[in-house]
Formats: sequence, structure tokens, C-alpha cells
Amino acid sequence: KQPAAIIGAGIGGIATAVRLALAGHKVTVFEAQESFGGKMHQLVLPGGYRFDGGPSLFTLPHLVDELFRLAGREPKEHFRYQRLDPITQYFFPDGTQLTAWADEEKFAQEVEQKLGVPAPEVLQFLKRSRLAYDATADTFLQKSLHKARTYLSADVLKALAALPRLGLTSTMHQRHTAAFPQEPRLVQLFDRFATYNGSDPYQAPATLSMIPHLEHGLGAFYPEGGIYAIAESLVKLAEELGVQFRYNEPVEEILTAAGRVTGLRTTQEVYDFGLVVSNMDVVPTYRRLLHKEPAPERTLRQPRSSSALIFYWGIGQRFPQLGVHNIFFSEDYKREFDAIFQEKTIAADPTVYVNITSGHTPTDAPEGHENWFVMVNVPHDQGQDWPTLVARTREAVLSRVSQALGTDVGQLIRAEHVWDPPGIEARTSSFGGALYGSSSNNTMAAFLRHPNFSQQLEGLYFCGGSVHPGGGIPLCLLSARIVADLIAQ
Ligand code: FAD
Repeated sequence: KQPAAIIGAGIGGIATAVRLALAGHKVTVFEAQESFGGKMHQLVLPGGYRFDGGPSLFTLPHLVDELFRLAGREPKEHFRYQRLDPITQYFFPDGTQLTAWADEEKFAQEVEQKLGVPAPEVLQFLKRSRLAYDATADTFLQKSLHKARTYLSADVLKALAALPRLGLTSTMHQRHTAAFPQEPRLVQLFDRFATYNGSDPYQAPATLSMIPHLEHGLGAFYPEGGIYAIAESLVKLAEELGVQFRYNEPVEEILTAAGRVTGLRTTQEVYDFGLVVSNMDVVPTYRRLLHKEPAPERTLRQPRSSSALIFYWGIGQRFPQLGVHNIFFSEDYKREFDAIFQEKTIAADPTVYVNITSGHTPTDAPEGHENWFVMVNVPHDQGQDWPTLVARTREAVLSRVSQALGTDVGQLIRAEHVWDPPGIEARTSSFGGALYGSSSNNTMAAFLRHPNFSQQLEGLYFCGGSVHPGGGIPLCLLSARIVADLIAQ
């Protein structure tokens, strides 16, 4: 088997390294930063507050287990997690507080009690979400959509045939409004799932209404030691399988000759490789590492997903009413998405997401304190005046959470760090700091994402959140599986 190089130690690159090592390749991972993880890094602030830097919600944990099993290990001995219950605490601007319980019946009862929507209607909606997921997800997420042979399989043809029925002509928001015409708060709650891949519920097709099933049906999970433990345990596995990680060694060019990949030039050396997998965002992979080659312009021009503005706050008090995932909704959701996707700015009153892990992992904050990861959805970087937007949004966030909790939260901040879209791009090379590559606002988005292989250069493959099947931990893990399958074939 030929030696393989992987550019980037994000979760997609790490998972690909494990799979290729198991397939018998000698694997070297080149990482620009001093450590692995990419968006899935961790940080510790003065005073002893630990945070997961990027992702906080973990679904489909069996995709991590699968890697340990493939290596002949018992997953639980290397990576442990538990199902979250409750999943999320929702705070509405009118003072209503709603708990999303893991059990669908219990959640439906809670919605009936707090929002007045009959529980059977909620269960019916969740069932439709499950049916849509079952009809399409495996097919669209687990195979390359860019190989003719994919379309020869019966299950793919069945899934394609199901698409129009599942909603290609209406938006997620229209679907949710039709399901709950009398209750805008429940519409807002389900619309929020569009943000799970950085999209706009007022544009994204209704097929994405399958996303709630991921969380409500299949479950939200929390790894022991935090989300970072996913990357950490898989890097350990990769190293045990012989993968070599070369940190602080950015790749500057992918070398090619006569339509094939021949090697890499890094800041330190030139290497021969006939097999290269880029886990770097696909846009800078073409613009910076393959600048002598023609680029797939139409693919690279697809609109980006949203980005994020995150405040990491060490908070000098405990809030028993808060859980791991907490949402403080804005008054006007439409305004918020118009601001992000049309006006390329942040609404004056954005929805605020607060992730707190110290309740689960007490070592994540000092006794009596909490580690707040406070996130607002924002546009990707297009040269906005970020210092002004960050300062304004910080005030809006503090005002919203302080009002909902009846406490001046600003007075409780003991440590602080901020990550904005230019910062996300600087650290991970993600184009514009977009969290999930291209957005899924377009009906054809799944087909317009870059394939997991190069259509021009033999020996070049792509994994991670900017290519098929998309962003988010589970999809990055699936991209690694597709790449390994393509290479094996
Ligand atoms: P990335 O994490 O993008 O890493 C790419 C790596 O490549 C980086 O380490 C980078 O340094 C390296 N690199 C780039 N260029 C070079 C080069 N030239 N040479 C060498 N190395 C290079 N997902 C979820 O599932 N749930 C969530 O709750 C969630 N929330 C999120 C919140 C935030 C704030 C962020 C930022 C992301 C979130 N995501 C979430 C998305 C998820 O984190 C990503 O989809 C996923 O981690 C991306 O992994 P990746 O494999 O694409 O690599």
C-alpha cells in the first residue's frame, strides 16, 4: 500500500488517518498548529476554566465507537460518553422556560404544558422527522454523490425518489409553521435546527426538518472529559496504529505532475507522496496549495455557512436552572437570519446559546463557578468591522441572559476569551471562518458540495466539514469513511 499524507489534524483528518492506517497505509499527518483538533480544540483560561473551543453538541457517537471496533478495541475502554437528559433548556423572551427532555413523550408533554400545543401533534412532527431521516440520511451521508456507481444502487434511487415528498419546494420554516400554525415559539424551536449545519431556516429546504430526529430521536451525548476527548482518544488510537503527526508543519503546496499528485512542500521539507488527503477547507486547498491547477470555480463559489462569535466566560456563580445546552431566544428570529445571510451582519438582538460543562465535569471550573461557552450565530467574514460588532453583541448577549436569569451576569465574569470569524479562519484555515463549509440553504446543496476526491488529479482526496457530506462531527467522521472506501476501491 502506498504511503499517505493527510493535510490537517481536524476530526476528519484524524478519522481518515485511523482508517488508512488500518487499511495498511503508512500515514503522516501534517498539521499547521501546535496540536490536533482544529475546530475541536480545547482551551483553559486563568483561574482554571476549561472549555471545548468549538463543537459542543455530540450526536451519532457510534461513529466514533466504530473506529475503535475496526481497530479491534473495545470502545468503552478508550472513549466513554453518556446520553444527555435533559438535552436543552429553552428560555423565551416572554419568560417561558421549556425543558427538552430526551424522552420524546416527556418532551411532548412539556410542550403541551408550557406552550399549549397538544402532545400528539408534537409526537407526530417528531415521527415525520424520523421518517424523513430514515428515508434519506444513510444514503445521502454515507456514499459519494459524485460517483456514477452510487446511482446504480436501489436504496439511492429510492431515497432520491422520496426527496420531493419530503419537501424540496418548501422551506424548513414553512414546514414548521404548517405543523404548528398557532405556536410561533415551537416553530422557532424547530427552526433552530437549521443552524446545526450553519443554514437559514427561512431558505433551507424542508428536507432538513429531519435534523431534530438526530437530537430528539437518536439522542444528544456528552463525552467523558468533554468533546475534546473525541479528538484526543482518536489521535491516541492513530498513534498506536503507527500514524505520525507532524505539528507546526503547514503544507504550502500540493505537488503535481501529469495529472497526478506527486508530493507535498511544507514549511520544512519536500516530501514524495502519491496519495494525499486534504482535511484543510477546500477553498484554501485550491487557492493556496493548488494555485497552479484549475479550480472548480462553481463549487468554490457556493455560499458559505454561518460562522460564530464565541465568548468563553469563567462565571463566578452557579446557576442550577441551567443545563449543558441552554438557548435564550431572540424576539425576532427572521430578523436574525436576514441579518446573517442578507445583510452580513449581526442582529441587534441575537439568540444566545450557552454551553456549560462544569455541571457534568466539575474539574472544568473552580468550586462554585461555571465555564460558560456563549455563542451567537454570525455571518462568515467578509471584511465586516468585527471589533465594533463584537463589542455591540457582547452587550446584547449580557442584556438577554441577565434579563432571563434575573442577575447581572456581566458582574460575574472572572475570565474571558473571544473567538470571532477572522480568528476562526486564522486558526483553522476555514474560508471566512464558516463553521460548516458551504451552507445548505439551497435545495441542491448536497450535490454542489465538493466531492471527496479530485476530479482532475489522481491520488488527491478530501475529507472534513467543507466537502461531502458536510460539516459537523458526525458528517466529518462519515467523510473519512467515504475517503477510505474510495481509496480502497
Ligand atoms: P477542522 O476542524 O476544520 O481542522 C482542519 C485542520 O487542518 C486544522 O487543525 C488546521 O490547522 C489544519 N490545516 C489547515 N490548513 C493546513 C495546512 N495548509 N497545513 C497543515 N494543516 C492545515 N459540530 C458539531 O457536530 N456539533 C457542534 O455543536 C458544533 N459546534 C461548533 C461550534 C463552533 C464554534 C465551531 C467552530 C464548530 C462547530 N461545529 C460543530 C462544527 C465542527 O466543529 C466541524 O465541522 C468539525 O470539527 C470540522 O472538522 P474538520 O475535519 O473539517 O477539520
